[in-house]
Amino acid sequence: MRTDRTFTMIKPDGVANGYIGAILNKMIEGGFRIVAMKYLQLTPERAGEFYAIHKERPFYGELVNYMSSGPIVAVILEKENAIEDFRTLIGATDPAKAAPGTIRNLYAKDISANAVHGSDSDENAAIEGDFFFSHLERF
Ligand code: UDP
Ligand code: MG
Repeated sequence: MRTDRTFTMIKPDGVANGYIGAILNKMIEGGFRIVAMKYLQLTPERAGEFYAIHKERPFYGELVNYMSSGPIVAVILEKENAIEDFRTLIGATDPAKAAPGTIRNLYAKDISANAVHGSDSDENAAIEGDFFFSHLERF
């Protein structure tokens, strides 16, 4: 299992509020290299599948609605110690508790619409990356 990759999404609020460029810049300035990237809108079915691990949590329905409400940017990133360093870069789930200068502190409004996703383990980074990208696409 590789330990140098993570998976992220710029969520619908990040895209709708015009922060794609600013958020990608924070990632690049943070030392992450973009391995794969695509702009798309999830169907409710696909959003539900992506967040299946949260199925029993009270916010699941709202989360699925929200994540399928507008376009997102899905990205695989590479850096040494990627998972931990990226979680530090994005900050706490609730932007009100996210450290100053973190992506969620700067660009998110609330705990649901919190600008970005970040994988929580190497195993989930691989699963989540494979969900969106079967390979590095050549066109
Ligand atoms: N979420 C929410 N309400 C909560 C907790 C989480 O709407 O009380 C949403 C939020 O968009 C979050 C996602 O569900 O990013 C996944 O939750 P998790 O606990 O995995 O947070 P994360 O790993 O994204 O920080
Ligand atoms: Mg999580």
